[in-house]
Amino acid sequence: MVVGSSNTDMVIKAGKFPSPGETILGGEFLMNPGGKGANQAVAAARLGGQVMFVAKVGSDIFGQQALHQFRNEGIDTEHVRQDTQHPSGVALITVDAQGENTIVVAQGANGALSEQDILQAESQIQEAEIVLVQLEIPLGTVTALTRLAKLHARKIILNPAPAMPLPDEMLKDLYLITPNESEAEALTGIQIKDLTSAEQAAHTLREKGVANVIVTLGARGALVVTDAFTRHVPAPEVKAVDTTAAGDVFNGALAVAVSEGKSLLESVVFANQAAALSVTRMGAQASAPTRQEMAASTG
Ligand code: ADP
Repeated sequence: MVVGSSNTDMVIKAGKFPSPGETILGGEFLMNPGGKGANQAVAAARLGGQVMFVAKVGSDIFGQQALHQFRNEGIDTEHVRQDTQHPSGVALITVDAQGENTIVVAQGANGALSEQDILQAESQIQEAEIVLVQLEIPLGTVTALTRLAKLHARKIILNPAPAMPLPDEMLKDLYLITPNESEAEALTGIQIKDLTSAEQAAHTLREKGVANVIVTLGARGALVVTDAFTRHVPAPEVKAVDTTAAGDVFNGALAVAVSEGKSLLESVVFANQAAALSVTRMGAQASAPTRQEMAASTG
């Protein structure tokens, strides 16, 4: 089960960013499905996961399109609700000639995904092998979810993105937390410069009660810390073209592998392979590999 956001990303490429009050003519316009929840649900489904997505979209054309796309990916959308009060989530992205971007997100219906919506999915939570969630929905909703998943002894993975401080009682309910370097720093106050500082941050999170910690380290792969071992798992070396949503593919793949009964270490190897393959291609959801593509790339 993946619980989280769904957005439509609208991207305009421009020579430069407009100054306040300025209107400029840009170049190409692209519209892509996004949102960390949706990206992770799609990544998991492509890799053969049996995915139920819990989310809220608007009763507008974007919400309908998103639902259609999820179903095309074989995702169970019983708990993707269409909200009549709020529009679908949208991200307006400007990319300049240097590839830098500025992004404004209107979270719309994502902000209305409530504790009530979580309770409606309780019987599916009870059956879920893994519950995967991020922080692009209200924190109270995430807390309700982690509490319920813990109550039913389900394994819950929190990808703590975007970075924000989290209550300790939520951390205690987690099977696994998967911050990247900047999120690990935001959660612990420890600046991640190398493997040693990443390990320190992971230990700090374990002391706060999280059972297992994986710090993703971009091209360097990931650091796994459990009560049994600490291990750096390097990512395959690839030519990176676009690292958008690398973390989302990593988390989706990780959830699939753990739900298949793979060990945490085996699951991280699998997640690194999937995420590394995704950075060799353009796009967010578009770059998420299928199981067949993974098999072909790893031999
Ligand atoms: P995020 O996308 O959330 O910032 P990271 O940058 O840590 O997260 O990347 C997540 C995962 O994607 C890494 O753990 C790794 O498996 C893979 N990855 C990211 N960048 C590269 C790269 N340049 N080469 C190979 N793998 C990469």
